Amino acid sequence: MTISPKENSQASDQTKGPSNFIRIIIAQDLEQNKNQGRVVTRFPPEPNGYLHIGHAKSICLNFGLAAENKGGICNLRFDDTNPAKEDAEYVESIKEDVRWLGFDWGTNIHFSSDYFEQLYEYALQLIKKGKAYVDSLSASEIRQYRGTLTEPGQNSPFRERSIADNLDLFEKMRQGLFADGTHVLRAKIDMAHPNLIMRDPTLYRIRKISHHRTDDKWCIYPMYDFTHCLSDAIEGITHSICTLEFENNRTLYDWVLDQLDVPCHPQQIEFARLNLSYTIMSKRKLKGLVEDGLVSGWDDPRLPTISGLRRRGYTPRAIRNFCERIGVAKKDSTVDVALLEFSIREDLNKIAPRVMGVLRPLKIIIDNYPEDKTEDLEFVNNPEDPLMGSRQVPFGKELYIEKDDFMENPPKKFFRLALGREVRLRYAYYITCNEVIKNPETKEIIELHCTYDPATKGGSSPDGRKVKGTLHWVAAAHAVTARVRLYDRLFIKHNPQKSEKGNDLISNINPDSLEILTGCKVEPSLARVKPGDRYQFERLGYFCVDNKETKDDKPVFNRTVALRDSWAKIEKARKQKKGVILKKKNKLR
Ligand code: ATP
Ligand code: MG
Repeated sequence: MTISPKENSQASDQTKGPSNFIRIIIAQDLEQNKNQGRVVTRFPPEPNGYLHIGHAKSICLNFGLAAENKGGICNLRFDDTNPAKEDAEYVESIKEDVRWLGFDWGTNIHFSSDYFEQLYEYALQLIKKGKAYVDSLSASEIRQYRGTLTEPGQNSPFRERSIADNLDLFEKMRQGLFADGTHVLRAKIDMAHPNLIMRDPTLYRIRKISHHRTDDKWCIYPMYDFTHCLSDAIEGITHSICTLEFENNRTLYDWVLDQLDVPCHPQQIEFARLNLSYTIMSKRKLKGLVEDGLVSGWDDPRLPTISGLRRRGYTPRAIRNFCERIGVAKKDSTVDVALLEFSIREDLNKIAPRVMGVLRPLKIIIDNYPEDKTEDLEFVNNPEDPLMGSRQVPFGKELYIEKDDFMENPPKKFFRLALGREVRLRYAYYITCNEVIKNPETKEIIELHCTYDPATKGGSSPDGRKVKGTLHWVAAAHAVTARVRLYDRLFIKHNPQKSEKGNDLISNINPDSLEILTGCKVEPSLARVKPGDRYQFERLGYFCVDNKETKDDKPVFNRTVALRDSWAKIEKARKQKKGVILKKKNKLR
């Protein structure tokens, strides 16, 4: 997808948004000239999946803090210490997504795997200080010995190995002389510590697996808690910002750095992760959906992945604005997905040209319009932005309108086309429907015969006659046929992860989350579109040209978002209905 500079301009010249507790901490640190007045943050993804909107919050926060402080730096660091789950494909996708969001790490890209040798040296330091030992209990024994929240753990029988033995065994672990799972290196802290994480945590384990960067050079890999704090220290990070679930790990973060001779001791600060309603935000679960074929890939437009949102038509600016809007807090909460939808509507309203497209076409014939005549009518491209100019849209005798814009027996509040009724065709003419032609067997409506009033050109009547409905339309002779995909929320539950009896994630999938329409008719200005182009289809919503399946003359449009929040209405109606049923039940009692 091509990114116009306009979309990306905000990321680099970010102005400070509203204050939050992390901004306050940093401002205070700067005031006291802590860290010699430097601000160095990092975004540390594990390359074991594609990034999602939750990661965008962390990216905007870390890169944003660096950008808004003079001389600030944000490193992109791949936390790649688990070769079983990681892959170079994920590294590339993460880089693409961070760049697309509008952030530039410059030369500040790092991999924890680049520090394997240094980390090994640090492990030796710990052993030599009597602060780490090689344990030969099995994984399940280690778990048993750990104790519980209410009971202290037990020391491993291997805890008192001599420093020399530990050095020897650790060296042999590195040389590959032992099988996976036979030994681990553990920190020697306190098996009765009230914080379970501090009960002699594992620092290294044996995994005879090739690593996507170091290949077969290593068969022992450092654990997250050992790697992360040391990588931060090696890179001179000043503020190590992570999500709340690492709060308990902070004690270990500080313990490791306190034992060792490190260049600096970064401050770990936790913030609440982003949770969104009607979606899931765990790479592991997202990977499950992809691998089980429940979605078309990591970039399925129904997923909250950055690549999915991109393919859906989201702009980087809308995502950044959303992240700024939700703020940074210390307490977990769930953000309504409607707020994300609001952010993209707000942006596309300003930048998307208006066009006309008919999703479920019904042909109408204007009986009193001359045969073979075509008029070019002037359409404003975007009333929000006069600089976007105007275009010509052809009008002719045969047109398509939306099937559900006509009803033979309309209910009271239906203001669109009906037999004998006059409506406006947008920016064109008033038309009146005079006859409905049906398939004699199926009774399906095939076409409508209408007449138009030539005096209403442009869509208003000189005699002041008013009509209640305005329809969008496409001239049949000039229409381009397109495929359109309508997306809805992937899950029907507000919190799809919440386990209820007999209710798993998959049973919470919305069966109507994707509707594919073929034979849609769009105006001829859309004959040649580029993947990633975004439009507002009048009255229908915002659409984006699919970046994978669009072929030269066969556009595929993905609906990014409807014009209004129809979901809110549906929910409200559903709740009201429930209320009515309950009331009825109560009456019966
Ligand atoms: P997941 O829980 O989705 O598997 P993760 O935490 O394992 O994600 P990492 O690659 O470790 O994924 O995440 C990189 C950074 O992004 C971490 O600092 C992490 O705290 C942050 N992050 C991950 N998920 C969220 C979220 N939902 N909201 C805010 N930040 C997040
Ligand atoms: Mg993680």
